[in-house]
Amino acid sequence: MLTVLHTLANSAGLFSKNQAAITNASANPAQKINKALQNLHVVRKIILTQNLPEDQEQAALTRLDQILDQISVNSLSVLTYTQIQDLAAALTVTTTSTTTTSKELTQILSTIRSSSSVITTTTTKTITKTINGTTVTTSEDDNVSVTSSEGPSSAVTVVDELDNLSLSIRSNIALGIQGDSKASALQLTSGNLAVEHVAYALSDLLFVYPSSASQHSYLGHGSEQWAKAGLSNATNSVLAPQVLQMSTRANAASAVLGAVSSAASAKATSAISTLASSAAIVNMVPNLYQIAQANRPVVFHVTAESVDSNLNVLRGDYSDVLVARETGILYLASNSVQEAYNVSVLAHAVAAGTNQSVIHVLDGVKTSQQVEAIKTVGDQALAAFVKQEQRNAVVAHDEESLVSAIEGIFDRASALLGHSYKAFEYTGPKDAETVVVVYGPAANVAHHLGDKVGVLNIRLYRPWSFSHFLKAIPTSTKNVIVVEPVSNTTAHGPIFLDVSASFNLWTGAHRPTVTDVKYGLHGASLTQGWIKALVHQVRATKGAKLDLASIVAEPELAQGDVNQVIFWETAASSAVSAHVAKHFQSALGQRTQHSSRVNSYRHSAVIETRVQYSKSNTVAFNESSLAGYATVQDVAVLAEYNVVASLKQGATLVLNAPWSVEELEAKTSAAFRFALGAKQIQVLLIDLNTVAKELGLLGAGKTLLAQIAFLKTHSSNLNDAAFGAIARQYETTNDKLFDGLISSLIERVDKEVIEVPQNPNWLAIELGEADQAALALPKHVTSTVRGIANAFDGSHATTAVEESSAPEEGEVALGKTSNWHKAAWQLMFSEAFDTRQVLSDGDHSYLVKITENRRLTPTTYDRNVFHLEFDTTNTGLKYDIGDALGIHGWNDTQEVLDFIEFYGEKPQTVVVVPRALAKNAPEGTIARHQTNSLLQILQQTLDLFGRPSKRFYADLIPYATNAAEKERLTHLISAEGAQEFKDRVEETLTHADILREFPSAHPSIPQLINMLPAIKPRHYSIASSQKAHPNSVHLLIVAVEWTAPSGKARFGQCTRYLTSLGVGDNVTVSIKPSVMTLPPSPHQPVIMAGLGTGMAPFRAFIQERAWQKAQGIDVGPMILYFGSRNRANEYLYGEELEAYHADGLLTHLRLAFSRDQKEKVYIQNKMNEDGTLLHKYLLDAELNGHFYLCGPTWPAGDVKDAIVQSFMDGEACAAIDANRIVNKLKEEERYVLEVY
Ligand SMILES: Cc1cc2nc3c(=O)[nH]c(=O)nc-3n(C[C@H](O)[C@H](O)[C@H](O)COP(=O)(O)OP(=O)(O)OC[C@H]3O[C@@H](n4cnc5c(N)ncnc54)[C@H](O)[C@@H]3O)c2cc1C
Repeated sequence: MLTVLHTLANSAGLFSKNQAAITNASANPAQKINKALQNLHVVRKIILTQNLPEDQEQAALTRLDQILDQISVNSLSVLTYTQIQDLAAALTVTTTSTTTTSKELTQILSTIRSSSSVITTTTTKTITKTINGTTVTTSEDDNVSVTSSEGPSSAVTVVDELDNLSLSIRSNIALGIQGDSKASALQLTSGNLAVEHVAYALSDLLFVYPSSASQHSYLGHGSEQWAKAGLSNATNSVLAPQVLQMSTRANAASAVLGAVSSAASAKATSAISTLASSAAIVNMVPNLYQIAQANRPVVFHVTAESVDSNLNVLRGDYSDVLVARETGILYLASNSVQEAYNVSVLAHAVAAGTNQSVIHVLDGVKTSQQVEAIKTVGDQALAAFVKQEQRNAVVAHDEESLVSAIEGIFDRASALLGHSYKAFEYTGPKDAETVVVVYGPAANVAHHLGDKVGVLNIRLYRPWSFSHFLKAIPTSTKNVIVVEPVSNTTAHGPIFLDVSASFNLWTGAHRPTVTDVKYGLHGASLTQGWIKALVHQVRATKGAKLDLASIVAEPELAQGDVNQVIFWETAASSAVSAHVAKHFQSALGQRTQHSSRVNSYRHSAVIETRVQYSKSNTVAFNESSLAGYATVQDVAVLAEYNVVASLKQGATLVLNAPWSVEELEAKTSAAFRFALGAKQIQVLLIDLNTVAKELGLLGAGKTLLAQIAFLKTHSSNLNDAAFGAIARQYETTNDKLFDGLISSLIERVDKEVIEVPQNPNWLAIELGEADQAALALPKHVTSTVRGIANAFDGSHATTAVEESSAPEEGEVALGKTSNWHKAAWQLMFSEAFDTRQVLSDGDHSYLVKITENRRLTPTTYDRNVFHLEFDTTNTGLKYDIGDALGIHGWNDTQEVLDFIEFYGEKPQTVVVVPRALAKNAPEGTIARHQTNSLLQILQQTLDLFGRPSKRFYADLIPYATNAAEKERLTHLISAEGAQEFKDRVEETLTHADILREFPSAHPSIPQLINMLPAIKPRHYSIASSQKAHPNSVHLLIVAVEWTAPSGKARFGQCTRYLTSLGVGDNVTVSIKPSVMTLPPSPHQPVIMAGLGTGMAPFRAFIQERAWQKAQGIDVGPMILYFGSRNRANEYLYGEELEAYHADGLLTHLRLAFSRDQKEKVYIQNKMNEDGTLLHKYLLDAELNGHFYLCGPTWPAGDVKDAIVQSFMDGEACAAIDANRIVNKLKEEERYVLEVY
């Protein structure tokens, strides 16, 4: 046996005494050590299968374990030549023999291994294989398995100087593949590792496409390490599965396709899996069609994520991962760590049982990183199940039968997994009226959403079975809300389309309405309360498009028996939270979840970790709940985050600081102390750094100290057991010394902890402005690279960001470019930056939502006149009769993007511009700045497509580097160029046109920003009365378009914007008072003359009088002259007018459709017919009527003539006198024109 070991060890280069080999190892240590590691694992297997005398075996294994524990994947260089020699000695000098039973050996081995690891050894017959020319003997028995400690570990060795105690952490925080554990075993693992566990166990060949978002925690990283360590899979068909790292580029899955094809041609049954992120899927689409057609059971485990490279944040956006939905590949989804494991099993079983390729999607932002205790199944049982399904593989001929076959596999898997799955999983009342259809992370929080609200989770997205979907929906359903994790584009989401299409086959009485909610950018908001609020809002707005950013989460469900502790750690402090989670889980039998958010935009990254634990297996963990305990490792964090906000009343807060109580008072903000007082927080101070220094504790010793400090300050009945768990976690060279160390640390911690008494003055302090700001510090860490997506929605158009920074010295008050990070910080940490999201016209604007955008003229008609309604609820917008609404329109997005591309810039370039001070701003007021992306500012603020003034041409001249262009620009603004300039105005050229025409004149972005005027709001007469419509405002608008002399189609800036909007879109508006007011008394006659959209304010007048009438007020006569081209196309609000006329409110309805008869008839003709009436209403002193004309300018003269004529006739006076009367009426504001 020793010969075998020697041969093997030599082949691994372990025992080489050749100096050259050692130098080589240090030249490329990682590679060498990995090889050594791999072989050490093989050595272990051999030791276990050689029937060695127990003591010999034990000594060898112990030494091997010690060496392995000292090899950290993160600090590979710790394996020294001396240690390797030491191992060689341990393996060779093992001669004394005492009899130890196999059972005892198992116990010894278990003790040697970490407490979380499970190992069962049964040495049976051996098989011999040849690897790299070396004969290796391995066990055939499935029960010989490797343990989690053999995977990547974070082992550290520390020698405490004082006690000379060698202390090694056995804890394996990054869990590796777990061997053949009992089915009921709970394992603490992350979503990624849970998936990899299954994929590795069930595959012979794994392709890994690392996510660009993370260097170390991508899906597949664990498998790479296990393969390097030589861990075999569950089928034992090969010694270790082959794990190949691939790069993500076009046609990324060619290698997979190649493997599929060659396996198919060789009729091989090797199992192929792919571990990838959604970015890889996007690049794989062409191959995926081919793979799907190959009818081979390839499983793709994919983390859904989208990386915002500007912000360095990850978003849980599934848009990318769903791009392959039409390739024919099956889609399964999992939404928690447990599900990630279970659905991985299902994915392999379904692939094997249907001979189809499967994409298993898990959330790459949360689930993949979250660590949770999950129930696992023995790998052999998994392999047997999949094999069984493969033997019974079905050939389905259509999608419905394929889905039924898949559900059959789900059913059979339920005994193994302890959970049954369905293609569509419905939970909720049988008589639900609203059904929320969820896919992805929303499934975790969508529960208990209200009476008669059910939830349908899509487990199997492809193939989509209409019949299975409809069967899962209660027949009582009236409305369906599809909540899908895709970007908020104007197009419908993919799942919405499937859901809507399914309802074509609905057999119920009333087809439910389907609303699409795309929350890809709002992943951070995703809580039970948020979804509940969302459902309420959708129901209240009856499906109108929602502004997700405005949804305020409703209170969460009570959490039941869940405890939560928060660790505020920094990259520099030790990761105690992970150890604690492990103790709670593995030693104390508590169900645990821990998730971290890391802000790495900081000198030393801040990590906020929440550890939640519960004895109950049923209660749900909820990250937004308050904690009873928090510990802050670095008190600098107190100035950056509001750590008290996440604490319950009376919670404990432990600060690791060298502070006395007085120093705490002196060094923390009044706001912080106020918050402590308000919540009656028990503050404990402990100076762990000094204690560690005094005791000479380093690395592992410090972590041990911090854990003890946690357990001593965290009042819990679990503590005694936890101390036992700590003891099991460390391996020592001397147990006695270790026990002594633990008790001395406990004693020391007890001595060092300072209880800070509640100070009544904390609540009495008056908080200044700075303190208020401190109170408003961010409550949570926002993950910057990995973690939970933030809700920064850079594209939210109506927002501008303000920053209260005075211009720096020497800074020109120009626009300037900045960077996304800064802008993101301003938004994310708005309180700290004093950031405000404001509308374009600051305090005078309102953000209102479109509730109706209805074309009034037939689509076949060349003029588009449309009716708009906005919801003003909770906006504070008030308007009077006759007011006009200012619309802050945007430029066309595509045209702006085209221009930015032409200009050689990027849409996301951040631009900071100073904002003008208000006219009445007090002296010394600091100008604020507005931060936008270049796209935003050109789309929303600057009149890029407006008419260029001569000044603009002149300003361009100095930038023109091309002499001919310079000359031409100069000519155009000269007296000689006047005609040409005029022609250009006729052509309605824009600023953008000029910049394209003179490309050498290329001002920088800040310069250009200063040359372009702002987009002016356009005004529209309000066509509603707020009395009649307290929460809405209506407009009547004609789309402006014309053809330039060159034949180019041109569009009005604002009307084009408005026509592009739909229900639910937000618009920034302001109010412009007007002279078009109703007479003071409701009895006074009102004479209204309107052409086309000139009808708008009169509709408001009529509504106001109708409202007055409904209140029982006696209202005077109303005459309406309405003119347009023809009745069929342009009788705007015809039905309403007829109704008012029939009701008698509109006493006279005079219609002039100019083109409906041979002779042209205009409103002035109708007025001429009513001369007596007009004279009476306007000049009878009792009646005191008012006259109004609204609309285009051109009829104004003829209309006036008609009035003048009526006065001449009625008064029997000359034209000059009649005109005088009209002027007098004008002065009295009884003859009012609003023409445009
Ligand atoms: C008090 C008031 C009330 C109003 N009420 C209504 C109403 O109820 N309904 C309604 O539809 N309208 C109303 N209007 C008109 C409305 O304000 C807008 O003028 C109209 O909608 C056109 O705006 P636009 O942005 O679409 O077109 P714009 O882009 O402003 O174009 C309008 C015109 O400007 C000229 N022009 C545009 N670009 C250039 C260029 N680059 N070079 C040279 N010339 C150019 C063209 O002649 C074009 O036809 C009202 C106006 C006022 C003042």
